[in-house]
Amino acid sequence: MSPLTDLIKNHPNANCFDLPPLPLDAEGMADDFRRYYAHTLGRDCDDQTIYYAYKALSITLRDRLVERWKNTRNAYDEADCKRTYYLSLEFLMGRALSNAMLNLGLNDAVAQGLYEMGLALEEIQDNEPDAGLGNGGLGRLAACFLDSCASLQLPVRGYGLRYEYGMFRQVIEGGEQHEEPDHWLRDGNPWELERPEFTQRIPFGGRTEASTDRFGRKSVRWIDTSDVLAVPYDVPVPGYRNDTVNTLRLWKAAATDEFNLDEFNAGSYPESVAQKNAAEHITMVLYPNDASECGEELRLRQQFFLASASIKDVLRDWIRRHGNDFTRFAERNCFQLNDTHPAVSVAELMRQLMDEHDLEWDAAWLIVRQTMAYTNHTLLPEALERWPVRLFRQLLPRILEIIFEINARFLAEVASRWPGDVDRQRRMSLIEEGYDPQVRMAYLAIVGSFSVNGVAALHSELLIDGLFRDFNELWPRKFNNKTNGVTQRRWLAMCNPGLRELLNETIGDGWVRDLSQLKQLEPFAADPAFRARWHAIKQENKQRLVEQVSQLCRVEFPLEAIFDVQVKRIHEYKRQLLNVLHVIHLYNRIKRGDTRNWTPRCVLIGGKAAPGYMMAKQIIKLINHVARTINGDPDTAGLLRMAFMPDYRVSLMEVIAPGTDLSEQISTAGKEASGTGNMKFMMNGAITIGTLDGANIEIREQVGDENFFLFGMTAAGVEARRQHYDPNGIIASDPALLEVMNLLESGHFNQFAGGAFDQVIFAIRNPHDPWMTAADFRNYIDVQEQAALAYRDRERWLRMSILNTARSGHFSSDRTITEYSRDIWHLDAVAPHTSA
Ligand SMILES: *Cc1c(COP(=O)(O)O)cnc(C)c1O
Repeated sequence: MSPLTDLIKNHPNANCFDLPPLPLDAEGMADDFRRYYAHTLGRDCDDQTIYYAYKALSITLRDRLVERWKNTRNAYDEADCKRTYYLSLEFLMGRALSNAMLNLGLNDAVAQGLYEMGLALEEIQDNEPDAGLGNGGLGRLAACFLDSCASLQLPVRGYGLRYEYGMFRQVIEGGEQHEEPDHWLRDGNPWELERPEFTQRIPFGGRTEASTDRFGRKSVRWIDTSDVLAVPYDVPVPGYRNDTVNTLRLWKAAATDEFNLDEFNAGSYPESVAQKNAAEHITMVLYPNDASECGEELRLRQQFFLASASIKDVLRDWIRRHGNDFTRFAERNCFQLNDTHPAVSVAELMRQLMDEHDLEWDAAWLIVRQTMAYTNHTLLPEALERWPVRLFRQLLPRILEIIFEINARFLAEVASRWPGDVDRQRRMSLIEEGYDPQVRMAYLAIVGSFSVNGVAALHSELLIDGLFRDFNELWPRKFNNKTNGVTQRRWLAMCNPGLRELLNETIGDGWVRDLSQLKQLEPFAADPAFRARWHAIKQENKQRLVEQVSQLCRVEFPLEAIFDVQVKRIHEYKRQLLNVLHVIHLYNRIKRGDTRNWTPRCVLIGGKAAPGYMMAKQIIKLINHVARTINGDPDTAGLLRMAFMPDYRVSLMEVIAPGTDLSEQISTAGKEASGTGNMKFMMNGAITIGTLDGANIEIREQVGDENFFLFGMTAAGVEARRQHYDPNGIIASDPALLEVMNLLESGHFNQFAGGAFDQVIFAIRNPHDPWMTAADFRNYIDVQEQAALAYRDRERWLRMSILNTARSGHFSSDRTITEYSRDIWHLDAVAPHTSA
């Protein structure tokens, strides 16, 4: 592309690109809206598709973001500040429109401008598809972090992949999950800006060739590669009313313009052009596995594609600003790896520094070990990524050489620290030996990083006691904890406008920037008038949820019932099964007439199962069948309802969390790294029923034991119990559980499909059940009964609810990011010069 800047710089009207600030009032924005609608999009006002109204409004707001985006970039360049790059295969962003309006402070002006044109803002907002480029918690964490970084004015850029198809849409048919493709880009994406000028070339395959120059310097070339282009698309990330707009840069794979010469010379021009398609497959689809590895070659391609393109982009920008001198690179740059998915970055940064920028091994390694930081997200062994050495050899031969060299030097370090301890060397090796040797990606990430963090206090403790014990003995100072958080902008201010206004009126609006200010709410828990207003808002939010449930599940929830909600990925460790057992128990009680002091209850469960995870799919089917039986039984009227909400996603959670009374966080202790759904519920005044797992522990510490429904074994208790776990004995000696199992096993919930739930039943009765569902049943149903009683005492419940919100300040992702910056990134905030 031609260097436009040179042309402009020398032009007498050099300032002709300095535009006056765009208007932020209702009228000015309405003018823009009409122009985009009529001219840019070419629609008439009698074109009755509201979609184009969404599009016109998005472009109107995007213009306001772009203004501030450039100022932010310039401010970072001028300050020449240290920067962090958040590398993640997932960013679960959800919708952008309402977030942009909130963060720009344009809610009222936009609503007014639209109202004057006879348009309803809410209807327009519902036309935006979710950006579902993630599976669950890990991807949503990345999105909350970006929001916090922009709101704290930290120079942090997200790097990810622009999947053509995001997380699948879940459809329930006959009680079973079916997956439909999510072609979220079909109608275009007004929030992205293509930047073809920053395209990178990514090598795959080929072979390596070593050579020595006349000074005896060794170098390696990676040759005969099949290259794929990486084209960046930038998404603006606005901070909260602070004129900062950061960047999420997403890479799309594209074919090079080179032909497959063999095909071409054989005269098959169309075939050779068609082959280009294969390159573009790399960013075609998000892998829908949460908390389990998949082992597909395409997935490794995705990981390297992200790592290579992002690092090239960072080095290009460094060279633009500092030339080819990397001596200060480590002082000014940091890469945060979101789980091991981008861990190949460790070797790829080595490769680029050595092979493309002529650094020696030691200099390059020093840079890597001072710039890479790794966040671990799971303790489940099945989720620990390993890639076959043979796959690396075929796909990334140069990267494999570098990994071998890193490993050889690392094992020498282990040997000198523990001479003769060969078992330790075998345990700590980056390569797991065997018939089909594997690269252990977590170990590569640990060895290549200066910081390794877990995501909640318990999780970080369990990591250094278990999985990473050897590494902690070698490098204790590397390991640290950063308890997760969520952004209160989206998860309170945006999704709960009723509560937002009450909070603003009561304690001012400082909490939107500084969530610890919610503490000021505590005294109001004792104020009956305040409690009444709190109750009224909760009921309005429950009404919104009732309408969603009615529409999506065809189940009617009575407003006065306790709304008991578990929404999250469907996984055995999260124990949706335990929830179902409790519901069946309540059903049994109703059937036998044991309903004295009954609290009407509505149980809502939602979440997606990985398409290949059969047990999770059977659990979904069970939930739907139990719900159908219960809801169809006249005896349950006014006492119990159950629904499965299809296609759980960010925009649904924005309706669910504000309308929930009781938040189910019931994983087997020691298995949920942190959880973040638990924090969204707490902020919105739901009370948790939960185990001592992940961040539940810290939630309970903050809110106090009397405002939390605790049950179940501890993590240590779980491990101790494994030796002598006897679920069949537990079932036989607990009449309630026996009755539940009898009903399940009688086929009561699968009258026309014998054996449909056999696997689920077997799992509960299995002495090797890793999740020990039966072990926690008794305590769970007892504590559920306490929760039901507490709910009947409305004033007590309201006090608890208010205190949950008031004490949720610790779970802002602003707090988390402040800790990342203080302990790992060492960033300074940089404010853009305002254009006005
Ligand atoms: C917050 C969130 C999650 C994470 O929920 P957990 O209960 O922590 O597993 C998953 N999916 C969506 C859409 C979310 O908003």
